[in-house]
This record gives sequence, C-alpha cells and structure tokens, in this order.
Amino acid sequence: MRKLNFSKKRDAVLAVLRSTNTHPTAEWIYQRLKVDYPDFSLGTVYRNLALFKEQGLVVSVANVNGQERYDGITSCHAHFVCKKCGSVFDVDCMGDSRSFDDQIARLYNCEVDHHNLCFYGTCERCRTELFESKAQNV
Ligand SMILES: [Zn+2]
Ligand SMILES: [Zn+2]
Repeated sequence: MRKLNFSKKRDAVLAVLRSTNTHPTAEWIYQRLKVDYPDFSLGTVYRNLALFKEQGLVVSVANVNGQERYDGITSCHAHFVCKKCGSVFDVDCMGDSRSFDDQIARLYNCEVDHHNLCFYGTCERCRTELFESKAQNV
C-alpha cells in the first residue's frame, strides 16, 4: 500500500480530475483514487477540491442530481448537462466569449471576471434511446 503525504494527495486529486473530460463528482474521483491509494478518504477529496476551487485550479460546473461536478479546465467554456443520464460535456458555442463579458460589463457598468454558461436538456444518446423505446412501443 502506497502512503501519500499531503501534497502528494493534492497532486493525485488534481491529476485524476485533469485526466478526464467527464466533469466528475468528488465521489467518482474518490473511487478512482481508492484503487491505488486505499488510505484516501472522501473527505480528503472534498477538502482538496474546495482548496483548488479557492485557488482557481478547478471550477465547479454545475450541480447535477444533487452532486457537484468539477472541471480541471478553468478556461472559460460552456457546458451541456443531460438531465436524463447526468453527462456533462464541453460545448463550443460562443466564439469570442470575451466580447460577451465586455457587453455585460458595459451594460451594467460592472467588471466581469468570468461567466458560467450551462445548457440543460437531453443528450444525443438519450434522445436516440428515447426514440427507439417509443418506436418499440408502437
Ligand atoms: Zn443523456
Ligand atoms: Zn468543461
């Protein structure tokens, strides 16, 4: 069993988050880490994620079915959340999202650091399944 000190644990949490584009939950990250490092606790994962959020190393994208979803890519990008299967993926829709920030800043005379744009609906896979199950019922 490999024992990890505090900073190694931090690195491991970040590495797992950055290794996937599924925008995982803390629980998912924990399950991954537990395989290699049995002394990891879910609390450690949560603590590290909170710290990373503060430091701007990760962002929380959305709350899906009561669970916070995290992203290791912090550059401004939009997301799509499937309400059926809970998948979260990156979408490219804005072109120049900076000009969007500028517009808001001008309109409301405020300063925009970043924005969080999230689309909700049914993903392609779930739509296909819905369509097929309807077709079967006919
Ligand atoms: Zn789906
Ligand atoms: Zn993302």
